This record gives sequence, C-alpha cells and structure tokens, in this order.
Amino acid sequence: MRITCAITHIPLLKANDAKLALLDHLACEFMSLTQQYATLFCTTLEPDAYHDLLLESTLSQRWQRVAVQQAAGIAQSWRSNRQKDFEDYLETCEAYDQDELTELPIWREPHLPTLKNISIQANTNVALLQKSSDSSFDYWLRLSTLDKRKPLWLPINLALYHRQALTGKKVNKSVLLQRHEDGWWLILTYTEHVKVKSPKDAAIVGVDVGIASFITASDGKHYGSFHGQLVRKHQLDREKRRRKAKLRAALKKKGVEKLPSTRNLKLARHVKQEINRSVNLFFADHEGQQIALEKLSVATMRFKTRRMNAYLYAAQLAHLPKQLEWGAQKRGVRITWVKSAYSSQECSQCHHVSRANRPTQQTFCCEVCGHRAQADENAAVNIAARLGDKGLQQCASRAEIKLLLDHRHERWQQEKRLVVVQPPAQFTR
Ligand SMILES: [Zn+2]
Repeated sequence: MRITCAITHIPLLKANDAKLALLDHLACEFMSLTQQYATLFCTTLEPDAYHDLLLESTLSQRWQRVAVQQAAGIAQSWRSNRQKDFEDYLETCEAYDQDELTELPIWREPHLPTLKNISIQANTNVALLQKSSDSSFDYWLRLSTLDKRKPLWLPINLALYHRQALTGKKVNKSVLLQRHEDGWWLILTYTEHVKVKSPKDAAIVGVDVGIASFITASDGKHYGSFHGQLVRKHQLDREKRRRKAKLRAALKKKGVEKLPSTRNLKLARHVKQEINRSVNLFFADHEGQQIALEKLSVATMRFKTRRMNAYLYAAQLAHLPKQLEWGAQKRGVRITWVKSAYSSQECSQCHHVSRANRPTQQTFCCEVCGHRAQADENAAVNIAARLGDKGLQQCASRAEIKLLLDHRHERWQQEKRLVVVQPPAQFTR
C-alpha cells in the first residue's frame, strides 16, 4: 500500500520581499484562471486534466496547464461529492418511505466551488525543488514566472524537525504552495510503502463510531467520549456562538464586511486531539487483528450528531473514520469497509430489524429474542459479522438489505421452531 505523508509549515523566507511580491502577482493570475476552468469543469465540460487550453491568460502555457490540472481535480471532487450527496439523499428518501424518518428530505443543489484560499499544486514543469549544496539553505525552489527565461529562485530553510522527518525519504517532485495571511508556506510530500501485515484470516474487530463513545469495538471496549470537561466546553461554546451570531447580524445590518467567525477553532482542535488519542489507544489494544468499519453516509452522520444534541459537528464525526483508515494504513493493518444500513437496528443474534429494538439511545433489546446489549456494542458486532458477508455485499439498496435481513430472521425462527416447538417423538405417534 502506498501512502502519501506531508511535511507542512515550511515558510518561504520573508527576507525576499520583491520575489514574494512577484509570486503574489503570479498567484493572482493563476487563481483566477483556475477558478474559471473549475467552473467550466463543474458546469459544461467533463473534468479533464489534459484538456486543451481554452481561456485567455497572461500565464505561460506551462502555468496554464497546471491551472487546468488543478481545476480538473477540484471539479472532480466537487462532482463526486455532489454525486455522493445525491445518493445520500435518495437513501434518506428510501428511509423516509419506510417510516424510519419523520422529516421529508429536501434536495439542495450544492454551490459551485469558489476558490477562496490561494493554493498552487505545482508540478516540475513550473517548479523545481533542488537540494542546495552551495549555500546555507536546504533547498532552492525554482519557479517559472510570467517573464520567460526569468525564473524565480526561492531559498528554503527547513526546521530541525522537518529535517528529521525527511531523513532517508525521497521528497516528491510536485510541491504545494499556499498563501496565508502571515505569508507563503511550502508543503512537501513523500511516499511511503507500507505492507499490509494482518493476514486475511486475522481475527476481526468491528468498529462503530458514535458520540456516546467515539469508538466502540465489537469486543465491548470503548474509546473516547463526550464527558465532563468536553461537554461543558461545548455548552460554553454554543452560548458564545449564539452571542457572536447576534453580533454578526448587527454588524451586517451596518454594512461591515469582515465579520467575526462563529467557529471555535480551539474547541475543534481539542475534539480532533481527543479523537486522535482514542484512535491510537484503539490500535494499541487490537494489534494483529483486522478491522471492519462501516461506510457511513453524510446523512447518517448528520442523523447521529443531531440525536446527541449536536455536541459534535458532523464534520468532526466524519474525521473519525478517516483517522481510523489512516491509522490502519500507517500501521499496515487490514481494514475493510462494510455496508452500514440497519447496523444499529439489527439484532446481532436473530437478525430481527426494528427501530423498537432500541428502547433508549444506549440500550439494545431485541423485541423477538430478548437479546440485550449496549446499543453501540450490538452495532459493532454486526459490523464485524458483515466483513466477508457476500450476500450483504451484493445488495444494491437499503430495501434489498432489509429483505435479506428479514429472510435471515425467518430462517432463524424456523431453526428455533425445530429445536423448541417440535414435540418429542413419542407424542407425535
Ligand atoms: Zn433478536
């Protein structure tokens, strides 16, 4: 497996004011062109990184090619997100039709991407990173500019921890340049090859992600949660955001343009740290095992967060599976995504599916067989069982999955009847 690791926060030295001003000018032209191509690729043209150059620009052909490539990437992910959202919407409609949801879902066409941040994914045609042997700098970044044959040479100095992280690594040729308020930053990447260490028949641990516990494993272990301090912080944050929102509304009326943000970045960072900590603990406890993780739709994420008083934003909850996947890849742990439909309503013992199986948020109690468990644990056991479940993999919709699970439940009932209901032989004679 190949994973890409990034080395971030390398500043472009501020001492080169004139050079950086040139870079600013170039970036301005570049972003405007990229924006135009991105809009085209989202609306009228299929995204194509090698599309012919169509638009007028003062940039060199090479820079225009970079803009087309970047725009194609942006449009591609916008289109696939839109597609995913639309599938989510259809799935939510299905859930609504089957009385699982009370609110009629509404489809909203997503906004076209607007490029607010200045970010240049530069390939070797326009940017060359060269190790410096004749100066006190670590690298020179050679950038072609609007003027032919007048490249820009930018000196790059690495911090000690950057150097340590890069020791023995081969830096990828394509670099990312980003303009923040405090100046220009360079992001380098390197590719690492990680072998999947867990064998195909390694013991399976199922994972349910949620809010009561960030991670619940099918062996009943729980990791990370919203308790005590974090909950109090969130309550404070909500009050603060409400006050800020009022302020924003008042300022907007007066025509103030730059409004204070209502997002609490410190708290968001704190939650992410908490999530990362739980992920690390989880992996430490399950060495040598392979992982089954459910593919959650955005709608399900929203549903999960709404139910818990919106302690977590859906985006933060979505950080969890990503972090689990990344953690597994880094460690060479086998990870498999399984279908998520009904995983929290299905009884792990008899396959009976019903919302009534969940008398409270925290408990699972099967209406039919009486199986009781902590709700997330029951879901995690289902998820573990779904790894390698060919019948379930073949289902194309929620309705098909429901049919399959109902069928399995019927079979379970028949088997039960054979054992319990069939009278002993001497009575039937
Ligand atoms: Zn049951």
